[in-house]
Amino acid sequence: MKKLTLGLGVAITLALTSGAMAQAYPARPVTMIVPFAAGGPTDIIARIVGDHMSKTLGQQIVIENVAGAGGTTGITRAMTATPDGYTIAMGHLGTFSAAPATYPGLKYDPLNGMQTIGLAGGTPILIVAKKNFPAKDLKEFVAAVKAAPDKFNEAHAGVGSVSWTTCTLLKGVLGVPKLNAVAYRGTGPALNDLVSGQIDFMCDQIVSVSEQIKADTIKAYAVASAERSPALPNVPTTKEAGLPDYQIEAWNGIAGPKGMPKEAVDKLVDALNKALNDEPTKKRLLDLGAVIPSAEERTPAGFQALIKRDADKLTPVLAAAPK
Ligand code: ASP
Repeated sequence: MKKLTLGLGVAITLALTSGAMAQAYPARPVTMIVPFAAGGPTDIIARIVGDHMSKTLGQQIVIENVAGAGGTTGITRAMTATPDGYTIAMGHLGTFSAAPATYPGLKYDPLNGMQTIGLAGGTPILIVAKKNFPAKDLKEFVAAVKAAPDKFNEAHAGVGSVSWTTCTLLKGVLGVPKLNAVAYRGTGPALNDLVSGQIDFMCDQIVSVSEQIKADTIKAYAVASAERSPALPNVPTTKEAGLPDYQIEAWNGIAGPKGMPKEAVDKLVDALNKALNDEPTKKRLLDLGAVIPSAEERTPAGFQALIKRDADKLTPVLAAAPK
């Protein structure tokens, strides 16, 4: 009789333990795939936000840089991973809203095949050039590029990336369909070549270029937003600088493969929200020029709506653009 009681007790304890273990997400580190090289905007935002999310989750968010094909290589890896909450990705306007229009055989479907978590940061777009680019302002830059489109090298992070997408829009506004373009594995490495003067210009997300602009190692002609960025108050908007039709804002956000357990989704959403409410984390993002997402944009549905809104906007333009 005594033995039986003991047996039952062990069975109950075991059942409770395995039940508790199945629920204890995350029980091990979570991999966040950054689909570009280290040092670029996506990597910077992932590391800042991931740092604080790790504290909330009680497990490390490990950043894995998987670059290639405008970010679609890394996002494909994340979206085809086991949907257990242990592989997620930091994507952006390019990988989530622009890529389907530029890669007909894309192996992931941002609108129907992903579990969105939330927006991590808005990132105004800047037209930046090497320090000795022969144009003192945006008007002169536009004139120079229009006069000799073959003379200047544009850097981007691959077809479908934010830099490629936003410079494609710029070329549309300028009526210069094709320039010499150099593709990098991310705009972190592209920025190094811009600083050393090996490439001429690029369109990129504010968070990696703002420090170099402040240090005067590169030039910024304009920010393509309605308002100036508080992080770079001296940089005019495209409207102020004479190119009002060039308006585009980018962003970075988190998603994982469809089918993730609800508990994992809820905990990741909560961790992202706490990171974006944390004053030191906010300050790090704001100092670099990022825009802190609204409460709605931090939700899976709010982020999903943003992806769709921008996909609807970009698809017709990009489908026709030269690759
Ligand atoms: N900003 C880059 C892009 O053009 C990617 C990166 O984060 O390095 O898409």
